[in-house]
Amino acid sequence: MGRKGLAILLVFAFLGAAVLAIFPPSPNPENISNTKVKVLATFYPLAYLAEEIGGERVAVKTLIPYNTEVHSWQPSISDMIAVSGADMIILNGGGLDWWMEDILNSVNVSGKIVVNTTKGLELIPLINDGANEMSGAQSRGKYDPHTWLSPYMAARQAEKIFSALTEKDPSGREYYQARFEALKKRLEDLDAKYQKDLLNKTRDIIIVAHEAYGYLAARYGFRQQGVVGISAEQQPSVQVIKDLVDVMTEYNIKVIYLDPAYSDSYVMMLKREVEARTGWEVRVMRLYLALGPVDGRDYMGQIEANLEALKAGLVEP
Ligand SMILES: [Zn+2]
Repeated sequence: MGRKGLAILLVFAFLGAAVLAIFPPSPNPENISNTKVKVLATFYPLAYLAEEIGGERVAVKTLIPYNTEVHSWQPSISDMIAVSGADMIILNGGGLDWWMEDILNSVNVSGKIVVNTTKGLELIPLINDGANEMSGAQSRGKYDPHTWLSPYMAARQAEKIFSALTEKDPSGREYYQARFEALKKRLEDLDAKYQKDLLNKTRDIIIVAHEAYGYLAARYGFRQQGVVGISAEQQPSVQVIKDLVDVMTEYNIKVIYLDPAYSDSYVMMLKREVEARTGWEVRVMRLYLALGPVDGRDYMGQIEANLEALKAGLVEP
């Protein structure tokens, strides 16, 4: 953090200009955008929740570009400048955006509200198996950070954003409250639908490109096994692929899940291996990571579509 710390000092010398660059004032001084709460979210799902709750009273920026691999992403100097211009900073926590915690430790955050949306929530501890050891340097955490893919956890994260917005902008309380209640109901209804639709599953394991679905697996009673682990982009070993071929063959699994933003090269290799060994046709299906809008679906559309995809793999017709 030494070099970064120096960089931050330099950055703050140009703070005034920087704030104008990131959140330019409206040309019309009467325009409401001057009074909007300036929210900086580390990545898309948090920005989505903040916009759903904040509506017209917030101006939301996202740091990590849409559909970018999040675990290895690191901020640039201009990303740090963006932090200084925000009224409110929303992070996932749980080890995902650890660099934001580093930035916040070294800049003056007085007057800003920092929302760690998973603070105090029940997070899934990482099991330190071989796969995780390989990515240990990047994970920076003891927990599975992929909370946002679970509607149940996302509702709790949304509640923290709602509380922070009412604290920052108390005159908007009723507005935020109504929008938060509507969002929470959608998430809780979706959680109930996951519960109901996966109740009669005929299988309890899914094969995924990246082990990002731990909160769904824990809540709805199945397991995930991935080509890459929980924390990072890494090349799977020959042994990992071989083990997955064995598991798919043993449990009669004919579906592999992949987010469209991820490379499909290892997934296609796995598909070919299983098909060659068994003569089955293996399907590669989308299971979204919700790291940005994709396929015409926003965050909510993606976690809704994930249930339908999971049913195809877990519930035998
Ligand atoms: Zn991930």
